[in-house]
Parts: sequence; C-alpha cells; structure tokens
Amino acid sequence: MNPYCLTISLGSACSLSCIYCYAAKESKAGTAPGWQNDHVLSLAEWIAANCRREQKPFALCFHGGNEPLQYVNEIVRCIEKIEPVCRRHQIPLQVFTTTSGVVSRESLIQACQLFTGITLSWDGPPAVHDQNRPFADGRPSCRKVEQTYQLMAQMGVDVTVRSTITSTSCDAHLAIIRYFAEHHVRRVVFHPVYQDEQRSIPSHLFPTPNAFVRFFLQSRQWGAENGIIVTYSGVRLEQCHDQFCPPLQHNVSVTVDGYLTFCFLITMNSHKENNHLIYGDILDGHPFLHVEKLAALEQRARQPFDQCADCFIQDHCSKACPAVCPLRDDAATRFDCRINQWIGAALLLERFGYCLTDQDMDNPAILIDKAIDTLRFRSRVLEGAEEASSPAH
Ligand code: SF4
Ligand code: SF4
Repeated sequence: MNPYCLTISLGSACSLSCIYCYAAKESKAGTAPGWQNDHVLSLAEWIAANCRREQKPFALCFHGGNEPLQYVNEIVRCIEKIEPVCRRHQIPLQVFTTTSGVVSRESLIQACQLFTGITLSWDGPPAVHDQNRPFADGRPSCRKVEQTYQLMAQMGVDVTVRSTITSTSCDAHLAIIRYFAEHHVRRVVFHPVYQDEQRSIPSHLFPTPNAFVRFFLQSRQWGAENGIIVTYSGVRLEQCHDQFCPPLQHNVSVTVDGYLTFCFLITMNSHKENNHLIYGDILDGHPFLHVEKLAALEQRARQPFDQCADCFIQDHCSKACPAVCPLRDDAATRFDCRINQWIGAALLLERFGYCLTDQDMDNPAILIDKAIDTLRFRSRVLEGAEEASSPAH
C-alpha cells in the first residue's frame, strides 16, 4: 500500500435521517471517537514519509457515516498534530471534509477557515432534497443547506456539491442542475444511490441505468453551457481508477472506533461485525497493521471481473462497487454496469470532440458502439502515422 491520504471518522453524531444512509445504524446515537488524537500520529508519520517519497501533498480528510463538522474542535486538534509532521517532511498538508451542511453557524465559520476543499451533500431543490435528507424528526433540511452554501461561498471556500440521485430525483431532469445554477454552484458530482453492506437500501430507490445516464448527460451538457462542471465519480478517465476501496485509492481510512477499514462503507466495528474487512487498528496508540491480511484483501479486490477483461474503460471504472464487491461476490459474477459503460463511452467521445445528440441521450446504448468505433479509428490512424514516420517508409 502506498498511502497519500488519511481519512478519519471522528464520531457518529448526525442530525439527519437520510433515506439512503449507509452508516452503521447504531452509530446514529452519536458515538464519540473511540481513540485519542495522539493515536493518529504514527499513521501520519507513515503517510507523510510516503508523500515525501512520492512528492505528493498529504490529504487529510474528515468523512464517514456521520457529520464531521459536529466535531470541529477535534478536527482542529488533529490538524495541529499533523501539521508539524508535514512540515518536518516538507510536504504540503491539504485538509478536506464532506458535510451535510446542517451544523451550527459557529462551527461552519470555524470550519471554513480550516479546509482546502469541502464537499457538500445537497441533492437539489427542496422537493428533492427534503424527501431524501430530512432531519431525524422529519423536518426539511434544504433551506439550512442553502444557507450553508451561501456562507461557504461568501467565505471563499472551494465547494463541490455532491448530489445523490434516486429513482424519483431522476424525474426532476434539469430542475436539479438549474436550481444549482441559481445558487451559483460551480461543481457538482452526481451519483446514483449506493447499496449498503447489509443490502438494506430499498431497491425502488435505485434509478434505472437509462434514467440515470440520460439525467447525467443532460445535466452535464446544460452545465457545460452554463459554467457548471458536472462529473460522475464511477468513471474517471483522467486517472487509473478501480473500486472505491480506500487502500486502492492510496487512502488509510479509520473508523469511529479506531479500526483501519478496507471498505468505505464500514464506519464502525464495535462488535467485530466487520472484522473480515479490517486490516489494523490504532486502539492502543500505535497503529497495528496486519500486513498479510491487507495484501490478501488487496489481491482479492484487484482480481479482475470476467466481464471487464475486454472493456474499453476497465482502467478507469469503479466497476459495480459497492453493489457488487470482489471481497464478497464471486469474481465471475455478472453484473449490470450499463451506467459506467454508457457514461464512459460518452466521456470518451466528448474528449474526441463529439457533440452528443438528443438521440444519444434518449438511447445511450448506441454510445458504446460509437466510442469503440472511434477508438478503433484513432488507433488505425495512429498506427498509420507511426508507419509513415518510421525509417522504412
Ligand atoms: S469493492 Fe467492496 S470492499 Fe471495496 S469499497 Fe467496494 S464494496 Fe467496499
Ligand atoms: S464498464 Fe463494466 S465491463 Fe467495463 S470496466 Fe466497468 S464494470 Fe467492467
């Protein structure tokens, strides 16, 4: 493992009750960190030394199945511990968080001064957001998130909005992206609802591939014309990318109770219920890294799915994570990956200067043939150019 990033779940308090929450249900009560700030120090040393070797900044992220900004004093203390480590290794420290935006104004102002970038979970206009992300007592939360965004923008924070798309929100078509434009949002990541470890997210919430891809492509096109960058995290052409397992993304991820987890869905392991995905802990103050287990998990996670063997985006695709997982499901399992294939094809064509038509958006399946034809054509042109420029010609 070659880590540049430390992701910390500080506690599990959260005032929302999102319909697609994947956090450990028992954690809703608000467990405080099961470890002390000092405990992250040796992890930070390891990661900083690696960053120095690789000439990368140290990315410190506060994330997890909770609301990190409810622990802003803990965040300050963590940063104070890790800053000197980075200074000693002469590498920059970048600090990020993902927030629901439902926190006190005081915490928010403090937080805005701490972070290099913030991802704000905001699903769209009130009709969409309040259905998906109400307060635990059922009250709507959208207006509060709007105020949060306004304050962040006023304070000059670099904000990315993350909008989770359900079967219902897909019907909102361009209303979501237009609403974000009205609020001067500049970057949005859309992703369909994740399935959780226990398979407890109701299937009716998942959008169909056609509906999500049409939604995404229309929003992306509208965004490009109106100054909003729209992305999808399941396909990343600009980098080599695999499933979302933290170690595959150079990321050491610590649960609320101090375990090092191989899976981003795992936020706690208090009853050892997730031991099969745990490869270490920091519970006694020194990280215990089960190196052999980590290597075995990595090897299993990287084993290729049969259906990906010839795929044109296999090096840039999150596969079907987390719905299908190589650590749980057979590598030979076939799964539906139309969303990634269609979006991958559209993004490739976009790179080659192709403008999507209404027909492409209504029937995204045709994009794959176009992308593969374009790739074949380009490789023939490149081969021809190489032959023409070789000394034999
Ligand atoms: S591949 Fe499996 S272990 Fe890795 S992040 Fe996805 S669900 Fe978790
Ligand atoms: S689009 Fe499908 S076949 Fe292609 S790499 Fe992704 S999961 Fe595999």
